[in-house]
Amino acid sequence: MVSLTVYDGANGIGGNKIFVEDQGRGVFLDFGMNFSKNSAYYEEFLKPRPSRGIHDLLLLNFIPRLNIYRPDLVPADIAVDQFPSLNICAALISHAHMDHMGYMGLLNEAIPVIGSCTTLALMKAMQDTQNQVFGSDVTYCTFKSRSGEEGFTLESKRDAPYVGRALYSMTEPCAGLVDFLNMRPTAPSSRKKFNPPPIQCLSCGTLPFEISAYPVDHSIYGATAFIIEGTKTIAYTGDFRVHGKHADQTREFASRARGADVLITEGTRARRDDAENAGGEACPTNSVSEQTVYETCRAVVDESPAIVIADFSARNIERLEMFLDIAQKSGRSLVATAKDAYILQTLNRVEPVARLEEILVYDALKAEKKSAWEELAVASGGRLIGHREISSAPESYVVCFSFYDMNHLLDISPDGGDYIYSSCEAFSEEMVIDFQRLWEWLKFFGMRVHGLEMVREPYGVKPKTVKGFHASGHASREDLEEIITQIEPKVIIPVHTTGHQWFADTFEEVRVVQEGERLEL
Ligand SMILES: [Zn+2]
Ligand SMILES: [Zn+2]
Repeated sequence: MVSLTVYDGANGIGGNKIFVEDQGRGVFLDFGMNFSKNSAYYEEFLKPRPSRGIHDLLLLNFIPRLNIYRPDLVPADIAVDQFPSLNICAALISHAHMDHMGYMGLLNEAIPVIGSCTTLALMKAMQDTQNQVFGSDVTYCTFKSRSGEEGFTLESKRDAPYVGRALYSMTEPCAGLVDFLNMRPTAPSSRKKFNPPPIQCLSCGTLPFEISAYPVDHSIYGATAFIIEGTKTIAYTGDFRVHGKHADQTREFASRARGADVLITEGTRARRDDAENAGGEACPTNSVSEQTVYETCRAVVDESPAIVIADFSARNIERLEMFLDIAQKSGRSLVATAKDAYILQTLNRVEPVARLEEILVYDALKAEKKSAWEELAVASGGRLIGHREISSAPESYVVCFSFYDMNHLLDISPDGGDYIYSSCEAFSEEMVIDFQRLWEWLKFFGMRVHGLEMVREPYGVKPKTVKGFHASGHASREDLEEIITQIEPKVIIPVHTTGHQWFADTFEEVRVVQEGERLEL
């Protein structure tokens, strides 16, 4: 018998945690962090306490009440063995966005992760740069132990080694990926041991069902849709779109998934007014293609007599490649942060991406020594460039900075310039404040702003994106309809959406599931 339980992601955008079981054994499809649940309780200065392990997340229902977690993350006051356990063979990660893999690191360490080579590489790069939330230590982790008399708190010993989790790639892992996964994330002088994650190609017979992965177009490289063939055929889209450069890949998946018994599909843009409350990188209202974004941004760079700042999502390397192309065509150089450069060189190990040697890496002023990953980011790519060089000829550069890099602009000290906001974020209340701050910074430097405007509303000013500077990572309603119609599944389960009504109005086979509801197929 086949059953399916959507533990999270059934009624909101992101946080997908879907369990598919066939004859007593199963796999998780993603194990992400639900941004809306998280931001309902937490903010930058109030976060779940890592020292309490899974305690805070479990009590607030951010993660399901199951006995499936790393034992070292269970404090003494959580009786985890009272919860049902699941027979989990593996977790399939569709792509390296937090709302799909952000809590994967909490799952029992014996559970291997399956993903595309690119996704596995990106997940390690993100860990190496220490850009993570509690629970996103997917490829390696340090085990904690109970501390204090009662064992309610957990700590990790300073010299405790990093231990890798078993990884399965969907295609034969290339030598570059294996080398990267084997690379210590710490400085050579560190005494911390590193037991790298074992990696192998997922082959027939590893799991009780057949799993095929298909690359799909999305706003991050490595995004994958899965088809699971056991007693029933289940197709899972992950996040996808049909208006980017790799639309043909999404269509190829649709043709392979044709006639599936069940289609679990994302529906981020199924409800058009979701810009207000969507988590992650949702941008439901525009229908702009990557080509339009290229042309709109190119026009700004071409006409700018001064520095251009390009602000886009850190993991959207496709957008970075676009700005590299625009910069070069307009006779400028592209300056990226060390973090961008590290992610680029990581991707380059798996598949050739932008010409690293043509990108300049911003040498931020800092008192402490460069960390291991920062050294590597510079060593493997283009040369370093400091604030003085940029301020002596600001019109020669396109600099990839975001709100969090505004302090560096105080060193560069531009006199006017053009700021391109090429991203789409959900404007939660907290973020509205950040955008108001960003606005002040841009006013301070006399920047012309493109892609973002401040609109006066009865209760103050609100940021709004301007059409043409960003293309969504998600399929429009029309594209969702086309792809789903092409697949013609017997049952459609919408996830990663609040647009269930649109699904129900458009298709006959829709089955809306509640969070945690077990569906027998
Ligand atoms: Zn997502
Ligand atoms: Zn995504």
